[in-house]
Amino acid sequence: MKKIFRSKNIARKIANKISFLSSKFDEEIKIMHVCGTHEHTITYYGLRTLLPDNVELVAGPGCPVCIVPAKEIDEAIELSLKGIKVYTYGDMYKVPGSKYSLAEARSLGGNVEVIYGFYDVLDRARKDGVESIFFAVGFETTVPTVASHIVEKDIPENLRLLVSYRLTVPALKYVLDRDDIVLKGVIAPGHVSTITGAYAWRFVSEKYNIPVVVAGFEPIDVLLAVYIILKQLVENKIRLVNEYSRVVSLNGNLVAKKYILEAFKKVDGLWRGIGILPKSRLMLRKKYSYLDARKFYSINVGEGIDLRPGCKCGEVVLGIAKPTDCPLFMKRCTPQTPYGACMVSSEGTCNIWAKYGGYIKYIE
Ligand code: SF4
Repeated sequence: MKKIFRSKNIARKIANKISFLSSKFDEEIKIMHVCGTHEHTITYYGLRTLLPDNVELVAGPGCPVCIVPAKEIDEAIELSLKGIKVYTYGDMYKVPGSKYSLAEARSLGGNVEVIYGFYDVLDRARKDGVESIFFAVGFETTVPTVASHIVEKDIPENLRLLVSYRLTVPALKYVLDRDDIVLKGVIAPGHVSTITGAYAWRFVSEKYNIPVVVAGFEPIDVLLAVYIILKQLVENKIRLVNEYSRVVSLNGNLVAKKYILEAFKKVDGLWRGIGILPKSRLMLRKKYSYLDARKFYSINVGEGIDLRPGCKCGEVVLGIAKPTDCPLFMKRCTPQTPYGACMVSSEGTCNIWAKYGGYIKYIE
């Protein structure tokens, strides 16, 4: 199965069809995806090199770590420096806060531990028995596990949550409402859609009259999504297509969605480098506020510094700039010495371009 989805011959055939359809347009066809894993597939397999000049694939706000405001990292750092154990994902560990990252805080004596998943947090918090917090970061995909343990009251007494969850649908709405970002198609995120369901993206075609395809993460998935978008544009039959139907259902994971809604409410939220987006952040509901680290501890970090001088992360996250448009790319800012948030995570566009950009990887 994997072989088919990475087949060089099939990729070439789809690319030829894309090329034929693209010749019917004089203007540029800009297609946005909103998932770091899609950017990885596109860049790692060199898919942009298979596309005609007038078809451009741009990365939108699809990295959950890149958009966490510095202030929320500062909060985690402050708690760690007070001796409270902070459990964090590895991707978050080196993302700069206003002054330090959690990794730097640890070198200053901060109590920080990197974990792979929420079950590690539960195990360790129960075993250690020390006061601890989980820095809960991510999009819709990572929320349900935590939400189910909140609702089922299966969180150890010594563990609290520093919740920094964000939602992708409001972020895409924000992008589509901007006049300076003109998109002709959207590739919706496969992972997020396993929870939300494909229908979550219907608004793109129905309200904005733009083709939208929920796509998987193999190179053939992405090329097929581009082909479907161009075909819809040529035929003027704009609609939602679920290319990733082998994994994503139309209505998503109903149990997971129920847990999310029961544990959290949607509020306006700040996105690093973007601003405040309506109903884009999850907060613990009142009945679970005893788990809220912000309420339990008095944290006082002041305003955060989201963008360091010269960093174009805000524009990169919105697909307005490419990483290579940033004068600091691979100079002051590298994966080894990240200056901006988009250079840290394996889902950050700058990090992906730094690792794979400029190299054509051939599909088998
Ligand atoms: Fe920011 Fe570094 Fe990307 Fe430039 S290369 S936009 S400094 S993360």
